[in-house]
Amino acid sequence: MRWGPPLFGGRPRPLRGGLLAVLHEANQLFNAGRYQEAGPLFARLAQEAEAHHMPRRAVQLHLRAAESFGLAGNGQTTLVHARATLDTMLAHGRTGQASQALERLLAALRRNNLAAEADTLQREYQGRLSVAAPMEPAGQPPGRLPAQCPQCAAPVRSDEVEWIDSHNAACAYCGSILQAE
Ligand SMILES: [Zn+2]
Repeated sequence: MRWGPPLFGGRPRPLRGGLLAVLHEANQLFNAGRYQEAGPLFARLAQEAEAHHMPRRAVQLHLRAAESFGLAGNGQTTLVHARATLDTMLAHGRTGQASQALERLLAALRRNNLAAEADTLQREYQGRLSVAAPMEPAGQPPGRLPAQCPQCAAPVRSDEVEWIDSHNAACAYCGSILQAE
């Protein structure tokens, strides 16, 4: 799926130095099941992305923060990052993507026994979101990407990366180029 540059911030610039190290650490902690430690790192990276006017990356990082805090059982902080995700998408007119993100967040909350928070989120957003059909990427189907980004260790989802052509995509988190098979 395309988020449509330049409306939504364009292709993410590569993340450098200290921030790439923080992202890598956050992903490693997450992969090791240390969600309570990973969450604040994703939250900090999301704030950095916002400060640098990179809403697309901020959304991805807020989603990861919400996921981490949800798995850690921290319902209130999960809601903070879930709202940041959805509000940013809606502010940029991405109603279809916001609907998909809401579904993903609600499923994650309920899976982590945070049903009250899921109900709150659903109540807040369901009236503002249309049930939009997912956008199909134009052109030929892209190739298969590695499961994990070799630079930042983030999980790679073909519907979240920014496709450059049918063989190359930019990681949604660190902006490094991923090559499809
Ligand atoms: Zn990456």
